[in-house]
Amino acid sequence: MRLNLAQWEVWEQQARSLTGQLPTYIPRLAEVEPNAFALQMRNLKGESWTRGNPELMFPLMSVVKPLLLLFLLECLGEESVFQQVGREASELPFNSLEQLEADGGFPRNPMINSGAIALCNLLPDPECLREWLNQSANCQLFLDEAMLASVRSVPNQRNLAIAERLQQAGLLTQSSLQVLDIYQEICCLSGAIADVAQLGLLLAQPGKTREIVTEIVRQCGLYQASAAFAAEVGIPTKSSVSGLLLSWVPGEGAIAIYSPPLDPAGNSIQGLFLLKQIALLEH
Ligand code: GLN
Repeated sequence: MRLNLAQWEVWEQQARSLTGQLPTYIPRLAEVEPNAFALQMRNLKGESWTRGNPELMFPLMSVVKPLLLLFLLECLGEESVFQQVGREASELPFNSLEQLEADGGFPRNPMINSGAIALCNLLPDPECLREWLNQSANCQLFLDEAMLASVRSVPNQRNLAIAERLQQAGLLTQSSLQVLDIYQEICCLSGAIADVAQLGLLLAQPGKTREIVTEIVRQCGLYQASAAFAAEVGIPTKSSVSGLLLSWVPGEGAIAIYSPPLDPAGNSIQGLFLLKQIALLEH
């Protein structure tokens, strides 16, 4: 890592001048401190570098999607998983119902809401995912009950319509409401930046299931901004509506960044800026 601290401070200052929006559809996410910031890089040798506030806690939201995929691939294998969901890029927003309709109710990939909700049908107990992640990644995720109550307080009509469409397509064996509740619960698994970096290391380890997850994330992790980012930067990265970004370099390490304001595609605007500077420096 050839990071020069003076240069880094300039980048952090440039990042702070970028303005984005907080999401409004989950009340607790709309109330967070927009200048909150945490970053951790960590490699498989055990070295780490932290900036910002290591004590901040935030929900994984969509960063849980690659972890759910990894868990199900490990437990059930490729065949069962890819009967529920595709592995193709999607150019439309993360909660697009139009895309799902156009594809006859079969989700494009597990990194958009439809795909992750379809996979939740294979996860009968959300608690197993939390325990498995904490054990495998040596981290301390917890369920943020207040966040979950906030998510539930404003029924997400779009996600509900997605779950109903999946049901019509014959992909759910439980009710759409039950599956949606599992999805909402795993989105509220929460931790600090070091926990997220540890999860990145779990994904950076060698192995067939990791390779599958990594490739899908490279193509689909940033919603409609994925293709441009893959071409320009190339590091597999998953974003979330809480302003979290998780990137990893297979066999090497991980970078976790938290900065809540989002760009129009729903990705952390300051986080993506910083990630690009780090990635381009490493090339
Ligand atoms: N729970 C959120 C939702 O379904 C997660 C989406 C995200 O992080 N982009 O809207």
